[in-house]
Order: sequence, then C-alpha cells, then structure tokens
Amino acid sequence: MIIRISEEKSVEITPLTVQRSLFLLLSLAAVAVMAKKTIVPGRAVIRELDERLQSVGFQSEKLAVYVGDELEARPVTVPQNAEVSYTWEIADDGILTVRGGRIIASSGGQTLLGVTGGGKSARVNVIAMYKPLPPDSDLPPLYYDKLTIANYKNTLSADFVPEGLIRIPDNYNAEGYTGLYATAETFAAYKKMYIDMYYEIHGRMHIISAYRSYAKQSELYNKAVKNYMAEGKTSTEARSLALGTTQTPGNSEHQLGCTIDVSNDNDTDHDYEKTPEGKWLAENCYKYGFIIRYPADKEDITRIRYEPWHIRYVGVHHAAYMHINNLCLEQYVELQEQGQDAADEYALHHPAAVD
Ligand SMILES: [Zn+2]
Repeated sequence: MIIRISEEKSVEITPLTVQRSLFLLLSLAAVAVMAKKTIVPGRAVIRELDERLQSVGFQSEKLAVYVGDELEARPVTVPQNAEVSYTWEIADDGILTVRGGRIIASSGGQTLLGVTGGGKSARVNVIAMYKPLPPDSDLPPLYYDKLTIANYKNTLSADFVPEGLIRIPDNYNAEGYTGLYATAETFAAYKKMYIDMYYEIHGRMHIISAYRSYAKQSELYNKAVKNYMAEGKTSTEARSLALGTTQTPGNSEHQLGCTIDVSNDNDTDHDYEKTPEGKWLAENCYKYGFIIRYPADKEDITRIRYEPWHIRYVGVHHAAYMHINNLCLEQYVELQEQGQDAADEYALHHPAAVD
C-alpha cells in the first residue's frame, strides 16, 4: 500500500510502521489521561482566569481620530483576544463621547481616555482633529466652525435666545436708547473697535439696536406693515414693502445677539457710508471680527437692501476670509459646506495620524 504524501516523497506503509504508529498513539493518549488526572478542578479555574487577562494597554501613547469619526480604540491585551468587557472613562467629554458603546470624536482637542476591564486599566492620550482640507484647497480653513445664518430662507425658532447676553452700558448707545443687549463676545469685540475708531479718526459710533427677541421683531414687522396700510397700501403690498426694511420674526439676525446697528446720530441712514465713521467701519470692522452683513454689491444674494450700519460679529478668522474674498455671509456659509465635503473626501484617503 503506497500513500502519496507529496510529489517528491512517498511513504510505504508496511505492517511494521502501522504497529509503531499505533504504539505511539496509545502512549500519547496515556500521557494525556495521566496529565488530566493531576489537575485539580478549582485550580484549573484560577489558572484560566489568570491566563484570561494579564495586562491591558494601547498600541501607542497617543491615538488620533477625526472629528465626526469613531475612535478605533481596541485595547491591547495579554493574552491576545482576552474576553473581557471594558468600561471607558473620558477626561473631557466635550471632545469624545460614548454613544451606543462607540467612542465618537465630537470636537477638536486632546483628552485622556481610560479603559478598565478584568481588574486591569490603562490610559491613552487621544487627539481629535478636524479633517484637513486638501493641500491645494483655498476653501475656508475654518469650514467646520459653522456660522448660524438667519435670512429669508433660514428661520430661527421663536424660543431661540442666544447664550451669554449682557446689557450694553448705556453710554455706548445713541441718545435715548437704553436696555440694549448683545452677547458678551460681541460686545467685547465692539468695545475694542469703538476705542480704536476713536483713537484713529476721533470718530464715535452709537448703538441704536442690538439683540431683538422674536417677539420684538414681530412687533417691529407688524408696525411697519400697519404704517404702510395706513398710507393706503393693501395688506399684500404693505407686507412686501415692510420686508424692504424689516425682517419677519425669526428671519432677523438681530435675534442672534451678535448683530448691532450703529449710527453717528440717532438714526440709521444710508449716508452713513459716506461719513468718516462709516468708511472706517467698512474698511476695518473685519479686524475685530465684524462684517457689514448686507453689502451694496450683494443685494441680489442677501435680498436685503445695502445697510452700511448693520454689523454682524462672526469672529476675526471668518471675517478676514470674507473681507479678503469679498463674500457675504450667504456665500461664505456655502463655501463652508463645500469645505466639509472636500475634507470628508480627503480624509477617506488620509486617515488621522499622530505626528
Ligand atoms: Zn440691523
């Protein structure tokens, strides 16, 4: 009887080799039975647990993840593939969050991530980073810091009230105006701009409007409609005419708390752009994080008549990008969305990595 084992080698099985193989098999079985007998069941369980988990750790000192993505944080165990259930601990839950047992990066930053399982624990530094734009892209670098927009198609809810509203000291207001509010960040930037305008051109701005609640906007709009109707316009005509100067409630950026109307007297005026203050504001406001929200050359996009007095705080980085590229907020927000798409695409081929 010949059994072919491989192309080169063949083994001839004779009755003698069969006998030897049988003897070998029986000997092995006997050793196994003896070995089994010497193991006390209790001890076997303890040894099994010890073998299950000796240590928990991570592959490196730092892990990297893109914001919006899930962190692949598989602990390294000795022995490998130990069956242990883990609990996670996050130092800064504004950066990483646990959702449905998965760890997701929700904003950029660095935090410690701790894991505990089987009585062992380990910690690792996690860097959550925004997806980079392709190197040749000139889309807004801060594409991920989405700006809120209120306009004819984006409506704020009636109960939306911005966080961090503060009362503006009355000495910043135009005569007779009192009890105006803006977000603390907006007013801090405004104050800086106010001081610099004074030192540079001895000019002064007076605030005539800032935060407006949904109810206040509603009141203003209804009043404007009423005035037009008193002039003999029909309700439809009055509404469309009112829209030329006053937004419908929910569609005004004054509800955001980061919008301010300024004047150098007690009223808003299209001549403001011709005043030294108006000119200075148009040229310099971006340095303080403000934009002229409704520019003259963007009326077809904003659908609002040019308002040289109406400034919106967006932060220096956003404002500078818009200023340099001559964009209104509608255009900028669209570019932010394109930036998100470009970064998502780029990240597919360039996974997050620690430097
Ligand atoms: Zn305004």
